Amino acid sequence: MTKALYPGTFDPIHNGHIDIASRASAMFDEVVLAIYDAPPKKLLFNTEERLNLARRALANLPNVSVVRYGGLTIACAREVGANVIVRGLRNVADFEFEQQIGWVNREMAPDVELCCLFCNDSYAFLSATILKEVASLDGEYTRWAPEHVRRALREKYAHDGEAATSIMSKSQSKLTHRG
Ligand code: ADP
Repeated sequence: MTKALYPGTFDPIHNGHIDIASRASAMFDEVVLAIYDAPPKKLLFNTEERLNLARRALANLPNVSVVRYGGLTIACAREVGANVIVRGLRNVADFEFEQQIGWVNREMAPDVELCCLFCNDSYAFLSATILKEVASLDGEYTRWAPEHVRRALREKYAHDGEAATSIMSKSQSKLTHRG
């Protein structure tokens, strides 16, 4: 049986992630989407919220489960019994990052294979950061995330102005005119 681990921050899960998870679910017997609980970046959603949003987004894929993890990704792979790590590639920057981390992981865990899937071209520009930026500026992003994720973003930005501005100061936004 081939079990794949799909690790990431998923803050929040979006259609680019869902596309990779769903294609991986057709390739492997089981896919475990693993949500890293303390990345070295500011988060909008806490771990519980990210887990719930991802579980709901992937509920129609019976061989995909969602877990949280901390520590090394390869340790998580071993813990869940995954022999493959799946990652999505959008561009050259993603490729260079995955190549370096892939080599390091192979040094530490040669039995765990890396499988990078090119993203769907409709989502090549999409990152969780862009999604949050557009949501915080009240832009249109219907095609980028499922309804329950869009609702969660609207609620965050409507009720938690502080969270919104701490993630993305409008003066730092690349999507507004900066003179
Ligand atoms: P981000 O914050 O950039 O959206 P994560 O750190 O949560 O992404 O990434 C988890 C995995 O999902 C990574 O392998 C990443 O390359 C992949 N990924 C991110 N965005 C996309 C996208 N638009 N299409 C396909 N894969 C993506």
